[in-house]
Amino acid sequence: MGGEERRFIEEAFSANWISPAGPHLRLFEEQLSNYLGIKACAALASGTAAIHLALLVLGVKPGEEVICSTFTFAGSCNPIVYVGAVPVLVDSEPYTWNMDPDLLEEAIVDRIRKTGKKPGAIIIVHLYGMPARLDRLISIAQAYEIPVIEDAAEALGSEWFGRKAGTFGDIGIFSFNGNKIITTSGGGALVSNNQNYVEKARFLATQARENALHYEHREVGYNYRLSNICAAIGLGQLKVLEERIAQRRKVFNWYKARLNNHFSFLNEPENVRSNRWITTPVVPGNNPEITVNRIIHALDKHNIESRPLWKPMHLQPVYRQVPAYTNGLSEKLFKGGFCLPSGSSLAVNQVERIAGICIEVVNN
Ligand SMILES: *Cc1c(COP(=O)(O)O)cnc(C)c1O
Repeated sequence: MGGEERRFIEEAFSANWISPAGPHLRLFEEQLSNYLGIKACAALASGTAAIHLALLVLGVKPGEEVICSTFTFAGSCNPIVYVGAVPVLVDSEPYTWNMDPDLLEEAIVDRIRKTGKKPGAIIIVHLYGMPARLDRLISIAQAYEIPVIEDAAEALGSEWFGRKAGTFGDIGIFSFNGNKIITTSGGGALVSNNQNYVEKARFLATQARENALHYEHREVGYNYRLSNICAAIGLGQLKVLEERIAQRRKVFNWYKARLNNHFSFLNEPENVRSNRWITTPVVPGNNPEITVNRIIHALDKHNIESRPLWKPMHLQPVYRQVPAYTNGLSEKLFKGGFCLPSGSSLAVNQVERIAGICIEVVNN
């Protein structure tokens, strides 16, 4: 926590706004919109709920196909199934580890050829805080007139040529789950420059309750709004967001300075800022998974938690049957990469200790 969260929660208690409505919620939405430079925002119960509503707002229908990055967390992909649509998974490119524009175009053309219909939406993920190749991805989506949802759950504050990730697509989504760069304990947001999209999302998130004194419902809605208490936490967290990003970028640079001779690191393309949510080195050479395993175990012996990278969706048992356009990169990264402890409160001597253990493993 940053320090002011308690004060905002106290305010919410004093005013008795303990519900999914209230002044802190409105202020959180306003401040987040201002920070991102976007017209409208609906604070929601989770990032997953935000993607679910984004698909509904964009009119994705059962049986339709939706393209999604394969190298991501399941929360990006599961909402496609919630709306009865079929995920079509697309692999990564090496400069950002995110959706490969050439493969995206190949997938669109092939899906049109095979099904006679273009996909209903494209979900572009900005993994580990690194913005995807937005210039090319967005122009391909526009050429085929397919709406884009940016999954910026891990990329709050990341920038592509000075503009915030999550503001390029038709809809952007964020997550404030406990593991993200700032948190409301659990929460998310849907943002757009199209006010109607955000209003529709807010309507669906409030059980699709019509504007009438009695409870009138013409369609099926959801209970997806963020609580005012959680928004109060969010107000405190927004105050320290830039500090957190600076700290995570520092942590990345500390690791890189110490480990650059042993591992490869994902550099920022020119004019791109990653929030460096997590530092993710990759082991070079053949059979890197052996080294990754040894590092994770060696760190664990010191009571230090580390993990493999996200397991691509096309390798997950639940998504093995869906169409996938792959090039081997996400699979290679899954085998050879790992997540180092990257919390905003890490000190340089802790990073040194962790780096020392990693180097010991590769030297043995
Ligand atoms: C965390 C995350 C989500 C889901 O957000 P929740 O708030 O946990 O539902 C979606 N996509 C990615 C890439 C994430 O990291």
